[in-house]
Amino acid sequence: MDLHSLVKDSSLIQSGAYINGAFVPAKSGATFDVTNPVTNEVIAKVADCDASMMEEAVTAAHAAQPAWAAKTAKERANILKKWYDLCMENADDLAIILTAEMGKPLAEAKGEIGYGSSFIEWFAEQAKRVMGDVLESPFADKKFMTLRQPVGVFAAITPWNFPNAMITRKVAPGIAVGCACVLKPAEQTPLSALALAELAHRAGIPAGIINIIPGMDAPALGDVMCRDERIRKITFTGSTEVGRILMRQSADTIKKISLELGGNAPLIVFDDADLDEAVEGAIASKYRNAGQTCVCANRVFVQAGIYDKFAAALTAKVAEMKVGDGFDDGVVQGPIIDQQGFEKVERHVADAVAKGGTILTGGKPHEMGGTFFEPTVITGAQKEMQVYSEETFGPVAALFKFETEEEAITLANDTIFGLAAYYFTKDVGRVFRVGEALEYGMAIANTGAYSSEVGPFGGVKASGLGREGSIYGVDEFLEMKLMVVGGI
Ligand code: NAP
Repeated sequence: MDLHSLVKDSSLIQSGAYINGAFVPAKSGATFDVTNPVTNEVIAKVADCDASMMEEAVTAAHAAQPAWAAKTAKERANILKKWYDLCMENADDLAIILTAEMGKPLAEAKGEIGYGSSFIEWFAEQAKRVMGDVLESPFADKKFMTLRQPVGVFAAITPWNFPNAMITRKVAPGIAVGCACVLKPAEQTPLSALALAELAHRAGIPAGIINIIPGMDAPALGDVMCRDERIRKITFTGSTEVGRILMRQSADTIKKISLELGGNAPLIVFDDADLDEAVEGAIASKYRNAGQTCVCANRVFVQAGIYDKFAAALTAKVAEMKVGDGFDDGVVQGPIIDQQGFEKVERHVADAVAKGGTILTGGKPHEMGGTFFEPTVITGAQKEMQVYSEETFGPVAALFKFETEEEAITLANDTIFGLAAYYFTKDVGRVFRVGEALEYGMAIANTGAYSSEVGPFGGVKASGLGREGSIYGVDEFLEMKLMVVGGI
């Protein structure tokens, strides 16, 4: 695959780290391969940065941040709006780059570019609405007020499953309020990150405000990010395991932390659900991105009275899903990102079958070969199965049977995770009862698709800390200062 020939503007395909406003090779000259997950072909060789380059980027960000923070919010917002416009103008190319390095279907990649860009537009607007308070003073001669100020330099680490949106959801709010950042993208998907940097550069975001440091040695790069005193905040999306490491490593420098971690989303279908709506919602939630999103339904709980009908209707739709190269027409499911992910899906299916599950459709590697896996539906799922307690991160819906509302809530909450939970019911009272009882950051009734820049995204328990997007997304990048003026 010659990626350069697929895009209109090949200068969006960058291979150097982006530090202090310039794309630079690794000091050592080292590179790593970026491959297309469909063919395993090498599509680019990208700078493999070491810890010293991360330190250089922190120095650049630290030097550039005060002047950026000193601009008015409106000045920063106008630059971010240019970045947003450039992302939209180049959406087709950004989607091609994304599909080439990550494998999701092109239509889904375009959807991600729209979603990712919406955070830039949104936070350009929100930057102008940052405000403090004037408090009722307890002293006649003193005024009390609060100011909201940027935290300074922040570090961001992002995963491969949303190579564009997970970057903009962090970088846009941070820089909109006057911070500067150093970002390490996932090693599978650095090209989307570097393309965003190229467009930020063209939009006039000053040198040093955004720095992208790709590299294979994530622990070494992450270590600098956590231990450097000049970095005041870490924002991370990825696995709970790595989230724990970052939190531990950041303890010595007492950083502000936000973590978007793993999930084990329940999707509950009650007897009184609209069957078509529930099937459509389950497909949107479970099979998007080949099941590789943190908010994908992982455990599908279906009430006894609708269980067989739901299983049959879901199976009929899932069996029709077209699997293949994301660049081919009509494909709705691409490959699993890598061999390790593929093996986990195989392991979960084999474990479910060994423990009494029945495969209604799929259940094996797809005839496309490589890391393609058939969209799968399994009935007779039990609590002892791995799919109950671990995130599968693949296109496998395991259907558990339950009898009562209380039982469904208990099962749904029986996990260390608490990111998204879905439920389908037409009983208004139940919508509120269940929504309030679910121990999740996001309780979603009667739909499987809800991500937007407007809703606060984030989890509770082992799914993380903080919220991204929405009017609250800037809070993670601001400190509150009390100012008291006496002698009045
Ligand atoms: P991961 O292994 O945690 O990797 C995520 C990022 O962390 C990558 O950039 C990775 O770098 C880096 N990393 C790995 N070890 C590190 C270390 N010791 N120090 C610093 N950085 C380190 O996660 P993944 O498997 O790629 O992503 C899937 C996970 O992300 C799932 O659990 C999913 O639920 C979660 N996720 C959560 C959200 C959310 O918003 N809550 C959204 C998307 C995904 P390398 O690529 O170089 O290894």
